[in-house]
Amino acid sequence: MCIFCKIVNGEIPSNKVYEDEKYLAFNDINPKAPVHILIIPKQHIAYLADLDDTTKYIMGDMTLIANKISKKLGIDKTGYRILINNGPDSGQEVFHIHMHLLGGKKMAFTV
Ligand code: 5GP
Ligand code: ZN
Repeated sequence: MCIFCKIVNGEIPSNKVYEDEKYLAFNDINPKAPVHILIIPKQHIAYLADLDDTTKYIMGDMTLIANKISKKLGIDKTGYRILINNGPDSGQEVFHIHMHLLGGKKMAFTV
């Protein structure tokens, strides 16, 4: 079982910031910004590239959860970045789709 599935089932502890029936959000263990949260579906999907017509709604759901958390944490006005890594060149390390929510400082690089 992957590390994020273990977080979902409670085998590995996490600092949860949001949970519903299908999704979980928790603080990144190695934060790259004052706010660095990972939003994941509870369903195991390894890659962004694995999304298809039956699962594409997950992108929309995760985005709305990111927006909701940004308001809760007061970074909705100062701004934030959402980011998903997919595959080797992106630096993806955990093979369970996750959306990074970063905020609370000016981002070090712009695209
Ligand atoms: P990736 O590079 O795959 O997009 O991001 C994986 C993220 O998961 C990294 O930012 C890393 O710090 C975080 N991470 C890895 N293992 C754990 C863990 O056990 N708990 C938490 N909370 N975050 C983790
Ligand atoms: Zn998993």
